[in-house]
Amino acid sequence: MRTIRKKREEYQNHEPGASADGLWKILWKLEIPPKVKVFWWRVVHEFLPARHILWKRHIEPIAFCAVCGAPEESIAHVLLYCTVAREFWHQVRVGIGVKIPSLNTASWASDLISGICSRQDTTVILCGMWTLWMMRNKRRHGELSMSIQQAVTWARDTAYDLWQISHPVQLQVPDKASPRWMAPSQGWFKINSDAAFYENKHSGATASVIRDHRGSFHAAQARWYERGFDVCLMEALACRDGLLLAKQQGIHQVWLETDCLELINLWKNNDVQRSIVDPVSSSARAAGAGARSPPESATGSGACPPASCSARAEGAGT
Ligand SMILES: [Zn+2]
Repeated sequence: MRTIRKKREEYQNHEPGASADGLWKILWKLEIPPKVKVFWWRVVHEFLPARHILWKRHIEPIAFCAVCGAPEESIAHVLLYCTVAREFWHQVRVGIGVKIPSLNTASWASDLISGICSRQDTTVILCGMWTLWMMRNKRRHGELSMSIQQAVTWARDTAYDLWQISHPVQLQVPDKASPRWMAPSQGWFKINSDAAFYENKHSGATASVIRDHRGSFHAAQARWYERGFDVCLMEALACRDGLLLAKQQGIHQVWLETDCLELINLWKNNDVQRSIVDPVSSSARAAGAGARSPPESATGSGACPPASCSARAEGAGT
């Protein structure tokens, strides 16, 4: 990582007019719009028509600031010390949390891009200063300028957008190995059941959604349980509730899908099945299914052939 000193040296070594000089290299890497890069280039080289600069060149008869009456309207005055600038940076500090650091009056423009602020803060500060200069120009030309609050918002949003573009959030790419929600065969319905269990209160909730073979929503419900034993039992209750919901809806051909691997493993174990998974098997029987389901299955309706009665551990695609 470059040190501030190295960046300063890189800047100081640049030769005006050379396209690949240190200043431009630093500017180029900043996460600011191109127009702001060009603007900052002009700030560093004092290529902006501030009144005091024009006055020194005998172009402007007066040097004072038309806003606050300060004797010299320098670039630094417009961007840092004028009453408008002070109010602007106050609002930036309060609203965005970005503070202008202590600056050397001689080298402040180059210091600001030499790493004395974080990259994010530098983006906000330079965008803010560009905005202040645009506001100054509009005032000078008698045009309506945006309010300070609008300017702060623009600087904030621009900096934020640029930061997001430069540092995109890594979206989670679905694992190809984990299948998405798969519709049941035509004429069948799928129940997706899930549960929540709050260990500290020993309470929980269940939720079930029923969709048809096209994936179209058919029915859903959620139930709250004041008492619960553990998460696996709650998952079993969720499956039972899903099956009861299907029964209420007059649905008899169902696939039941849960994301609880432990429950599926218990279901496969006939001995344990009678204990913790009993609510599910009882409901399955009540719905007309056989008391036992084949391996790879959790439960199903009476009309459901074994191969179609699936409870897949990977079926959390809802
Ligand atoms: Zn002023």
